[in-house]
Amino acid sequence: MRLRDKHGRFITDLRVSITDRCNYKCVYCRTGNEGALYADLPFADYLRIVKIFVRLGIEKVRITGGEPLLRNGLVDFVRELAHLRTLGGESLDLAVTTNGHLLPDLAAPLKAAGLGRVTVSMDAVDPAKFARITRVANGFENVLAGIRAARRAGLDPVKVNCVLLRGFNEDQIVEFARFSREEGVIVRFIEFMPLEEDRVWSPEVVVPMDEILEALNTFRPVRQLPHGLSETARRYTFDDGVGEIGIIAPVSHPFCGHCSRIRLTSDGKIRTCLFSLLDHDLAGRMFSGASDDQLADYIHSVVDHKEARHHIGEPGFVKPSRSMVHIGG
Ligand code: SAM
Repeated sequence: MRLRDKHGRFITDLRVSITDRCNYKCVYCRTGNEGALYADLPFADYLRIVKIFVRLGIEKVRITGGEPLLRNGLVDFVRELAHLRTLGGESLDLAVTTNGHLLPDLAAPLKAAGLGRVTVSMDAVDPAKFARITRVANGFENVLAGIRAARRAGLDPVKVNCVLLRGFNEDQIVEFARFSREEGVIVRFIEFMPLEEDRVWSPEVVVPMDEILEALNTFRPVRQLPHGLSETARRYTFDDGVGEIGIIAPVSHPFCGHCSRIRLTSDGKIRTCLFSLLDHDLAGRMFSGASDDQLADYIHSVVDHKEARHHIGEPGFVKPSRSMVHIGG
């Protein structure tokens, strides 16, 4: 039976974190020091879990982390996933989210293994600003080369995610619009959410959707494109139809009502919302000898309790028990 929560939402989109480690230390994500580290599972365990989820109606699998390209064996894992079929008999919609640092060498093998598309996180098109945010010297050239390698390999679309932070990169909005048009990639601006290891979030640091649109319109008039209900991004192009910009605005324009997502952490815990206060220990049950049917029943019972929505910015908001890097974005 297909996964559906008690709010009537079908769950079709699984995000699997395959490692908690990351080679970047983005100021809005990590402390810059070695912090909490959760375990990885062998790929065979992730594969078993994904197969169960696919039997329950999952159609889209996004591999993430930490930084998923750090994990040896990723290409083989993608090849295994590419053999799976949805309940409707289709191939899975297979994607990876990466910081792109190791993508120059991995884009072509990942595509050959069956990866459909890739999202690369890049928070500035100015190399010095990029280094200030990521706290990694000379990363920009690798990431740019990774984006270009992904396009050459035929990964389609290539999306570039940029988290906007006031005081760091809000002046990059127009530069990213040019980047989208020149490089043939979809650029998506994401509002900063309170999911960081440090306590740096405040409403003032968030660059909201309306401000992003205003900045884009000073460059060229923007035109909205249709978007699917469960799609996180509102989509835009310019008056001449060249370039595509998405705006993901969970803070100023939440989209929880159409959420179709569920997450598996690198240590095999289910999270029903980025802002969940609880983990659900699927791997623990698997290691205690539960059968696939028992695990499927457990997943149904967890999904049934998926949160209606997040409460960012409301009085009494409680920060989730794990930060983005330890959940899998
Ligand atoms: N390492 C990979 C990467 O850089 O894309 C995958 C993991 S990373 C945690 C996934 C995405 O979450 C990135 O696009 C990152 O910019 C975003 N992210 C991290 N912390 C965030 C926050 N507090 N608010 C919004 N997005 C965040």
